[in-house]
Amino acid sequence: SALQVSDDDADVKKKPLDVESVRAQFPALQQTLPSGMPVIYLDTAASAQKPQCVIDKEREVYEQYYANAYRGVYRFGDRVSSEIEHSREKVRQFIGAEHIEEIAFTSGTTMAINIVANGWGRRFLEAGDEILLNEMEHHANFVPWQWVAQATGAVLRFIPLTDDGQLDLDRLDEVLSEKTKIVAVTGMSNVLGTVPPITEIARRAKAVGAKILVDGAQNVPHMPVNVVGEGIDFLAFSGHKLYGPSGVGVLYGRRELLEEMDPFLCGGHMIDRVYKDHSEWAALPAKFEAGTLPIAQAIALGRAIEFVEDLSLCAIHTHEQNVLRYATERLGEIPGLKVYGPSPGHKGAICSFTVENAAAQDLAQLLDLKGVCVRHGHHCTMPLHDLLGVPATVRASFGLYNTANDVDVLIDALQSARKQLH
Ligand code: PLP
Repeated sequence: SALQVSDDDADVKKKPLDVESVRAQFPALQQTLPSGMPVIYLDTAASAQKPQCVIDKEREVYEQYYANAYRGVYRFGDRVSSEIEHSREKVRQFIGAEHIEEIAFTSGTTMAINIVANGWGRRFLEAGDEILLNEMEHHANFVPWQWVAQATGAVLRFIPLTDDGQLDLDRLDEVLSEKTKIVAVTGMSNVLGTVPPITEIARRAKAVGAKILVDGAQNVPHMPVNVVGEGIDFLAFSGHKLYGPSGVGVLYGRRELLEEMDPFLCGGHMIDRVYKDHSEWAALPAKFEAGTLPIAQAIALGRAIEFVEDLSLCAIHTHEQNVLRYATERLGEIPGLKVYGPSPGHKGAICSFTVENAAAQDLAQLLDLKGVCVRHGHHCTMPLHDLLGVPATVRASFGLYNTANDVDVLIDALQSARKQLH
């Protein structure tokens, strides 16, 4: 299996996920709709619901010690700065980074990738250099590279995909060469669920002297990641998909790379010394944290990480894989329904599908009438949808709080939507 988590993991056997007690910690999932129906939330890939502990932590900041960070010497300022550093240290441990200064808080995955594309790419890419992408990347890991390629004369190349939506690594050498300067690859596709073998890609990238950036928006919340073990140079992810607040995300970069690259945004906090005609950058990670940080959000992100770590990423992953297998089996009962991407065992808990003669938006609207929240559209992956040959898909994505019952409600709602639309 391409997945790095084994379902036989000893921790999982000791402490499987108790989904009912997990669900009880999510206030949004306790609501019933005016019709009396429960909320069936199947859009965690877009943004996850928040557990009470994360909501409480953010509230604690505002109620008890809110102030700007790294500025005041008074007690609120001190407390905020130390809480942020606590959170930064949590992130470091969570992704297996060596040094705390390798962790910069950003506004999200998009900003983190833009920092690398611009701060590293514009500094080091030259005409004729190659940037290696693939067609399933989210626009956040696609468009910044197009922009930087246009500015530097670098060329975009694409790792071919197999028919079932995996990276065709047998053909990697057709596109990976000494000209490749960076491989920008998703840790998990937000549409197909594909989980590329990052360790192997990193090893092969390194062998030709290329860097590797992993868009961790989708995998970081659902399976363990270790940047050192996997050989990742840059990792980007978002708080809001990790059961944490929106408005905060993380850029990890190897220290020497962050040191030699340029900042992307300039202003307060990211400088060491400003003269009338030039400035000197602050030490890491402040160099990449211009302006006021998302203070309460960065602090509550640390709490979200504690929350998933207490449950264990391995147990979360195993639970979600069970839900995925059940969902895949039951979606197979719907006539004319096609799920895109690899089979379970090679992907995360995402099912994107079309139903013959039913527009994705109509399906999503009819599902909503049954309390089922799914997303429809191109999911910020237009090149992938061009490749699939469909303008839009419906996406059901699962998180640690989803159950087999959620899948059953989805299937019943799909059956009745299909009848209405045919
Ligand atoms: N990359 C992937 C794979 C995603 O799924 C998303 C979010 O949808 C992003 C990047 C962008 O994340 P954000 O909007 O939090 O910056």
